[in-house]
Amino acid sequence: MKPSTPGLLGSLALACLFSAVAAGRPPENIELPDWNKTPVEDHDLGHGVHMLESFGGNIGVLAGENGVLLVDAEWPQLYGKVTAAVSRISPQPVRYVIDTHWHWDHTGGDGLFARAGAVLISSEQTRRYIVAEQKNDNPAGTPYARDPLAIPVITVADGMKLHLAGQTVEVIRVPPAHTDGDLVVRYIEADVIQTGDTFFHGFYPDIDQPHGGTIDGMIAWYDTLYEMCGPNTRIIPGHGPVASREDVREYQGMLREVRNRVAKAVAAGMTEDQLIASHPLDDLDAKWGGNLIKQPYLLAIVYEELKERQGRHN
Ligand SMILES: [Zn+2]
Repeated sequence: MKPSTPGLLGSLALACLFSAVAAGRPPENIELPDWNKTPVEDHDLGHGVHMLESFGGNIGVLAGENGVLLVDAEWPQLYGKVTAAVSRISPQPVRYVIDTHWHWDHTGGDGLFARAGAVLISSEQTRRYIVAEQKNDNPAGTPYARDPLAIPVITVADGMKLHLAGQTVEVIRVPPAHTDGDLVVRYIEADVIQTGDTFFHGFYPDIDQPHGGTIDGMIAWYDTLYEMCGPNTRIIPGHGPVASREDVREYQGMLREVRNRVAKAVAAGMTEDQLIASHPLDDLDAKWGGNLIKQPYLLAIVYEELKERQGRHN
């Protein structure tokens, strides 16, 4: 029972629209919202930096006199509401869109922004994953349907800087965590860091192992992220509200605990079904299990990663 779909949040659209739920994967009954009733909320973080929060991945906005930078692009169904929110921040056009990673809830709006004149920027891996998905002959209007304009045109190998609106924006290529193509964006003067899905604030993570994600990479990354932060740094997570470095520390502790419990089960020879049936995370569920990612799904993806690694070492 190996994960065969992309990370959950990226594959939501596929699961919902095509009923293409991977065999054996624990069911996640996440339904798409009524888009008309889904708000896009604006959080002003100062220095022209905003976080837009809605159903999909959080968007970072940097608004200046020479145009607007977006980091992530939400579901395309929210394009109108996102552009309306951006226009309340700045009358300037969206000139650049950086994709933190390839999942649809972060890149779905790319094609629409590109049509309106934005330049798409991503890591090499993210671009490759989008290109590969587009080769699957997905019907028009569904995620990753063929659309040359929705393919990033600038790729970041080791990082880059943008100089916009009197601000310095550092784009950082981080080691494999949520995927192996994650970009993290640092708005230097505003003291804001946008993590993409390498960090969710307030609930269990998703890890896209079929695209290079790894739980140990996630856990290790939180040390780096913590070091990058000062006491007043605000973090725009992939999902959830604005966070601080203390939230990162707490999250790392939770994930380490999850990993340790699953590793013990693997070492003891438990099957994945036995592990899930034993409810080993019930005490953590109260704080972390109340959102998109539920205990059985997290256990399954961590178990399969650790089991596979054990197999390689034997
Ligand atoms: Zn993701």
